[in-house]
Amino acid sequence: MTAGSGIYTGPVFDMAREQFHTVADTMGIPPGERDRLLYPKRAIAVSVPVHMDDGSEAVFQGYRVQHHLSLGPTKGGTRYSPKLDLGEVAALAVWMSWKCALCGLPYGGAKGGVTCDPYRLSRRELEAVSRRYMQEMIPFVGPHTDVMAPDLGTNEQVMAWFMDTYSMYQGKTVTEIVTGKPVAAGGTEGRREATGRGIAHLVGRAMERLRMPPAGATAIVQGFGNVGSVTAVALAGRGLRIVGVSDHTACYHDPKGLDVPALLRHVAAHGVLAGWSGQAACDPAALLTLPCDVLVPAAVERVITGSNAGALQCRILAEGANGPTTPDADRVLRARRDEVFVIPDILCNAGGVVVSYFEWVQDLQQFFWDEAEVLSRLHQVLDRAFNRVMARADQDHLPHRDAATAIGVQRVRDASKVRGLFP
Ligand code: NAD
Repeated sequence: MTAGSGIYTGPVFDMAREQFHTVADTMGIPPGERDRLLYPKRAIAVSVPVHMDDGSEAVFQGYRVQHHLSLGPTKGGTRYSPKLDLGEVAALAVWMSWKCALCGLPYGGAKGGVTCDPYRLSRRELEAVSRRYMQEMIPFVGPHTDVMAPDLGTNEQVMAWFMDTYSMYQGKTVTEIVTGKPVAAGGTEGRREATGRGIAHLVGRAMERLRMPPAGATAIVQGFGNVGSVTAVALAGRGLRIVGVSDHTACYHDPKGLDVPALLRHVAAHGVLAGWSGQAACDPAALLTLPCDVLVPAAVERVITGSNAGALQCRILAEGANGPTTPDADRVLRARRDEVFVIPDILCNAGGVVVSYFEWVQDLQQFFWDEAEVLSRLHQVLDRAFNRVMARADQDHLPHRDAATAIGVQRVRDASKVRGLFP
């Protein structure tokens, strides 16, 4: 039996596995070397018992997967989502590895999370889940072992609770245990906006390459949380018209352009998009295939599939979410290469982990940079990664996803080869 095939199951891990083998085939990686590259080094599962507001006790399932340790500590987000399982967490950890390696960061990939619906927990319950999850993880994480960050369903506040809980057990403040913290608690300027601004920067690079002027171009963004909302603001700031947005509660479309600041105010007041405007409401299933220049899936995985990939009408597909495009859709998009320019997730949303790396470096040194420095260094790292992906895709006639993954896989492979197999 192949290593890990028994516990890493489900459609999201199947996607990560298929993407890896496609790239391993093009790179000529022999079968005997593949399991060590693909399967996670460690997977931790914990029970997270919590007192609920109604007086009952609930037990949530928590996970952390550390993919490989060849390049340094592991790094990755924490997801709170009702259907989260080990296979999904493992896939996200694998993608994190290729992403960090593509960007030249000294990390292996990790991911973690709790199977819960954060939208249904009170603030006190959310704090209790977060603190108990971190407490259960203390033996397995550390500033030089594994560093957490936010992801779907978590935010700066959750990172502050993680940092505080870890610090209480150490008897001192350890800001460098998590990234994506509020600036007031040792976070860095620019982290909250980093993923969305990075996406907008890379969309700008793609538009330059395609000789598309941003002024008057249109964009649709699926997901209006941290990544989606900041991306919408940053694209609008570059002159694009945001014609469609959605979250898990509502979906709006207006070819004349939506009022992004008004949408932000509504979400700040109500937490979700629902209730904003009856006039512009549209069918969420149709949103991704409406005409636009730039389509940004920035919510969950597997939304672009073999069934809708042929109907996409965008010129640029900027993957803000992790894993939004299935391998079936990739086969369709491969044939539509000259029509749809894909900025693959491990490149497109890498701004988040790049600025998380900057936050970790600043916390370790207790020496902080201003926002302009963070942004300029972010653009440097993303430009280098973008240029490498374009060069590799041109040189080997590869789709952008395969080129990006191949660069990441190669770096991990090189590191584990020179380090050897212990003992
Ligand atoms: P978030 O929890 O802040 O926001 C998620 C948004 O997606 C919410 O608006 C939610 O309503 C919406 N959503 C959920 N299900 C949906 C559905 N079926 N259809 C439409 N909208 C839906 O999460 P986030 O941090 O913005 O993360 C979004 C995606 O970006 C995830 O795939 C995550 O892994 C990825 N990502 C996040 C970061 C980061 O720094 N936060 C970095 C890299 C990648």
